[in-house]
Amino acid sequence: LHRNPGETEFHQAVREVLDSLGPVVTKLPAYTDAAVIRRLCEPERQIIFRVPWVDDQNNVQINRGFRVEFNSALGPFKGGLRFHPSVYLGIVKFLGFEQIFKNSLTGMPIGGGKGGSDFDPKGRSEGEIMRFCQAFMTELYRHIGEYTDVPAGDIGVGGREIGYLFGQYKRITNRYESGVLTGKGITWGGSLVRTEATGYGTVFFAQEILRSRGESFDGKRVVVSGSGNVATYAIEKLQQLGAIVVACSDSSGFVVDEQGIDLELLKEVKEVQRGRICDYADQRESAKLGEGSIWSVPCDIALPCATQNELDDKDAAVLAQNGCAIVAEGANMPCTPDAVRLFSEAGITFAPGKAANAGGVATSALEMQQNASRDRWSFEYTEERLAETMRGIHDRCLETADEYDAPGNYAAGANIAGFTQVADAMLALGVI
Ligand code: NDP
Repeated sequence: LHRNPGETEFHQAVREVLDSLGPVVTKLPAYTDAAVIRRLCEPERQIIFRVPWVDDQNNVQINRGFRVEFNSALGPFKGGLRFHPSVYLGIVKFLGFEQIFKNSLTGMPIGGGKGGSDFDPKGRSEGEIMRFCQAFMTELYRHIGEYTDVPAGDIGVGGREIGYLFGQYKRITNRYESGVLTGKGITWGGSLVRTEATGYGTVFFAQEILRSRGESFDGKRVVVSGSGNVATYAIEKLQQLGAIVVACSDSSGFVVDEQGIDLELLKEVKEVQRGRICDYADQRESAKLGEGSIWSVPCDIALPCATQNELDDKDAAVLAQNGCAIVAEGANMPCTPDAVRLFSEAGITFAPGKAANAGGVATSALEMQQNASRDRWSFEYTEERLAETMRGIHDRCLETADEYDAPGNYAAGANIAGFTQVADAMLALGVI
């Protein structure tokens, strides 16, 4: 803790993983001898840089940029970029740390990293967004590359921003290096299903949990928080599988729609009009704005898909009271440690983000494969690869949990399975 003062979210993420690893290090002392855990907690490299740009009023704006290259034992650093005013080193490090285990769980050759900026895209014009992205890449370009570090999107960074970032990378380097970024548009090196992948993947993971109980999504009431990339495509897949999504949100509030969220309208409001969730409520008769917490809306399954620590122990208690049976994290670390403890006491099955939302990065790895082979796969084929990956992660979490006497504990299974694969690679590569 004293090495990383004030980095609250990073401490939280590290503690959560280390809490699960006791039985592993006892069984395999080689990890301790080679200081694997201490090395894992220290990023290989962290870059912090100035991002100067000029706004529409001709004022010079200064933001702070980050790229934390956490661990490359399994492959090039891989992880998204987040543009949000709350971004600081502690958030980037928590996300980068989580990413190591998540990427390991996918079974694909990718290491862990994360980056971003405290830039707030809200209310900024197209021109401002483009100039900011260009300024950000003007420093970042020297640190990334197909074999080095491959960023993607996250909160505040979607297809539009990846386009401006890729354009600037191409301009500076004079290289059409498709494999340097993922989440690209379909006509310029992107993969079908990447946009949908995190949301779809989270639903596929929850579907596996249901399947193991002989149940399905058909007729289930689901609450999804957020209304960005992950939430939107989680809702789409849930509806395709027969669930009724009764509520979603953004940072200004939430809507309850007992008829089920009208996804076309939600996409129009959020992606085209770039409006707020209240604009959805204004345009839909069956929807009303909710009060208090979105987790007070009764549901069978809850998918937090907005941001870290958005669901606390009070929310968890209300979910339990209302009979919620499964919580699967579409976002990174959206449930507080107290909430997770409460799920366990209440018998709610909990699927942690590093397993349940790994479909996004897994499909990014598929995008890298397509770029490397200059190939392009169909939607159906790519979606099947995603579904297969999520089934694989699900089964691996359960098998590992069983092996370490924690049956049904997806969080322990994910941490241990993700850890052992990286740790074994680190042992093989020597003390570096
Ligand atoms: P988006 O920017 O597309 O959407 C984020 C959504 O969450 C928006 O509805 C936003 O509301 C809401 N939100 C953001 N910050 C807050 C906050 N502080 N309080 C309340 N609501 C908030 O991001 P994504 O959908 O891409 O990411 C959502 C989560 O999923 C993040 O935790 C991310 O790390 C994780 N994730 C994303 C992946 C991806 O492929 N995109 C992959 C794996 C995980 P508003 O618009 O009002 O800000």
